Amino acid sequence: MLNAAKQLTASFHAELYNLVPEDHLLRKIHALVDFSFIHELVEQSYCKYYGRPANEPEMLFRLLFLQILYNLSDERVVQEAQVNLAYKWFLGVNPEDAVPDASQLSRFRNHRLGASQVEDVLKHVVGQCIDQGLVKSNAIILDATHTLAGSQKQRPLDVLRDAAKRLFRVVTKRHPKLEKKLPQLPKVKSDQEDAERILLIYLATLGETIENLLPDHEGAVTEKLEIAKQIVEDERLLSSKGVLSAIDPDARFGWKSSTKSFFGYKEHIAITEEEIITALEVTPGSTDDGKQLPVLLEQAKANGIDVVEIIADKAYSGKDNLEIMKTETISPVVPLHPVVHGGGERQEGFEYNKDADFVVCPAGEHSTRRAIQGSKKDGRSRSMVYYFDIEKCKTCPLQDGCYQPGAKSKSYSIRIIAEHYKEQIEFELTDTFKERIRRRPIIEHKNAEMKRFHGMATAKYRGLFRMRIQAYLTAFVVNVKRMVKLKEQKQLALR
Ligand code: SF4
Repeated sequence: MLNAAKQLTASFHAELYNLVPEDHLLRKIHALVDFSFIHELVEQSYCKYYGRPANEPEMLFRLLFLQILYNLSDERVVQEAQVNLAYKWFLGVNPEDAVPDASQLSRFRNHRLGASQVEDVLKHVVGQCIDQGLVKSNAIILDATHTLAGSQKQRPLDVLRDAAKRLFRVVTKRHPKLEKKLPQLPKVKSDQEDAERILLIYLATLGETIENLLPDHEGAVTEKLEIAKQIVEDERLLSSKGVLSAIDPDARFGWKSSTKSFFGYKEHIAITEEEIITALEVTPGSTDDGKQLPVLLEQAKANGIDVVEIIADKAYSGKDNLEIMKTETISPVVPLHPVVHGGGERQEGFEYNKDADFVVCPAGEHSTRRAIQGSKKDGRSRSMVYYFDIEKCKTCPLQDGCYQPGAKSKSYSIRIIAEHYKEQIEFELTDTFKERIRRRPIIEHKNAEMKRFHGMATAKYRGLFRMRIQAYLTAFVVNVKRMVKLKEQKQLALR
């Protein structure tokens, strides 16, 4: 049940708030940003008639805001808010009032914000920037950054065992009488042949048994069942390329360079030249950056930006992206990359990784070497050929239609058709292009700010669902900080 906006009762101690300096960052934010949109955003997730009255959503949202602004844990922000006058003033409670506990905060984040359109927090803050005249640019700058998963990569056998134990435990804790009806975990040794198959079958059987015994399962049981299903249905699991953690099944390996990998997620970001984040998408770490251009463009437009120019690195120079920009008469300040924008039909599931300069196949294996084929004089017939390790192909569960048993090599070719991009090549040589592409590095500062000061280097919670909430809230916070700065610059310029 949601309370109507609560009025603060007069407090004998309210004078203490005079101690919060006039130029305190939280006072500036309070004066500049309207947080009241949060009521409408989460309204649907509350029951109108039943349950105890809920704490003010705005107060809980402000508490989450403080948590990210000062990079604190759930417990720490609650402790700090209890004793810090500026925090309490910002939350809108009296000095003697208690603040919500950490469990309320996490419930609000996952069950209220998570159940709503969390991306709308970004829409609201971008809207406020536009309304206040702080965003005028029609250019968006795109890039991706990564966040490490909070859990470690596991071997397939450990993923299976861990997922089975977690599922068994959560069911028997809530329904002790079911313990005898559930199949028991088989004893398998790590070096035992077919140990993974045995555990895979066990996990599938355990899941089916629970579905039959508890058709109306919910909460943690549903969550663990979903994870088990995801693992069982993952064809790439047993080649160590699919689900890599029973704790965080959405996290994936991605590449920062040809030798440096990471396990976690990617945030794909679009910012304006005023350094306001206008679009954000979160994906597992293995996702191709270039494919997110249409998603970011649509989101930036929906958030109120009339995009006339896109500035991005060569990863975004794919054929489809160039076509989209041409159709929408958007100036493509994107350097061409012969492989990324190469033509020809691409085989489903193969993706080029520009950071590492290799191709990743559907089984998650990456090419081990590359070579250019064709005459240099005749651009039309040139191809970049990427070769895979056939020892891996020979035992690959996805070899059907990909690797011919007995073949001596497995390669993937990308044709390089430079003449189709004459217009773009000419644009790349102009002074306008050279001057505009210099704006691109500002997005790297934004990524660094989110990681260094607001906890985006490592996922605070598990799963893509929670990672998205963390990323959108962080984008909201850095936008608010930027709003304060832009407003001050504007006021200075008027003096
Ligand atoms: S057969 Fe080889 S190239 Fe094809 S998906 Fe399997 S490992 Fe990758």
